[in-house]
Amino acid sequence: MLKEHHIKKVVNKFEDWWVKDPHSSNMDFYQKTITASHLSSLSEKKFIDFFYDFVSRGGRVQSGGNRAKNKFLNTVKQDVVRFRKFVLKPFQDRFSLKDWFIEIEDYPNFGVGIATIFLNRVDYNKYPIMNNKTLNALNKLGYKISSSKNWSNYMLVKKYQDNLINKFPTLQNYFKTDALNHYIVAVYQGQKLVSDYLQIENLKNDLEQHEIEKNVEIYSEEINKEELYKKIIECEKNRSEEITINGKAYKRHNYLMVQIKKYRDYKCQFCSTTILKANGGYYIEACHIKSKAKGGKDSISNILVLCPNCHKLFDYGKRSKGKKIKDVYHVTINEKEYKASLK
Ligand SMILES: [Zn+2]
Repeated sequence: MLKEHHIKKVVNKFEDWWVKDPHSSNMDFYQKTITASHLSSLSEKKFIDFFYDFVSRGGRVQSGGNRAKNKFLNTVKQDVVRFRKFVLKPFQDRFSLKDWFIEIEDYPNFGVGIATIFLNRVDYNKYPIMNNKTLNALNKLGYKISSSKNWSNYMLVKKYQDNLINKFPTLQNYFKTDALNHYIVAVYQGQKLVSDYLQIENLKNDLEQHEIEKNVEIYSEEINKEELYKKIIECEKNRSEEITINGKAYKRHNYLMVQIKKYRDYKCQFCSTTILKANGGYYIEACHIKSKAKGGKDSISNILVLCPNCHKLFDYGKRSKGKKIKDVYHVTINEKEYKASLK
């Protein structure tokens, strides 16, 4: 999750990219064609041609839906009159966004992605775009949202993008916030910036955890496991962001991670590896089972203590939906089964 001052830098770099990229000139591309009068005046053939072109070009927002366009054509041809009524609804005074959003399901191959692009082309001050790119980018920026493209997530996308526009008024509208998402997820410069800032955050946390370990002498301290477990639960319940140890403030999250690593003996829960450091301490990583971006908690029941290899295996391997049976987490990654205690 990016810090706000990092997001600000990303937005500034994005603005430099935006003025030079041809994408910005597409902002008003459909200003004269996606209107109630134009869409109603087209002959049936021209109407179909228009939407065929719109879908195959991804509404000039996302890369073209080459596979989807022919299937889409069949769907539309089945009932052109109804589809035209559907796309004209957003122009009416008593338009219900929610009803319309649910109606999208009736048009296979005109999915939520392209449908919300259409809405955005009707009015980019009112309707955000929601596709995989959107949800992915919001997660990277630290907004909590699942990968589902349902109505409640659409409302969250709107809320989060309003929040971004409020903080960074140069973003202006939902066409531009979508371009920012594109920049973060699909443009090398943006991807690199975000990944660099995320690494900086991780490194800072590593250093702070290292300091906490030294400060509380957690390596040498003989701790009763039961006592430590009680302390962990106490620390989880604490609502404050920071915690003071020996007169110095640390992120509560980092203190909790140190405690959990200690409780699990700094040993990888998948392969039992321990990594001894020159200073006598141990290196190990904390891995969230359900990511924080998706609402996962900083809690011992959501944390695995893993060596760097197993951590990457968890992140990048082909992973089954894990299950928890009596405080033991069961998961299959790349066809191998793993078990780890969550207590
Ligand atoms: Zn391991």
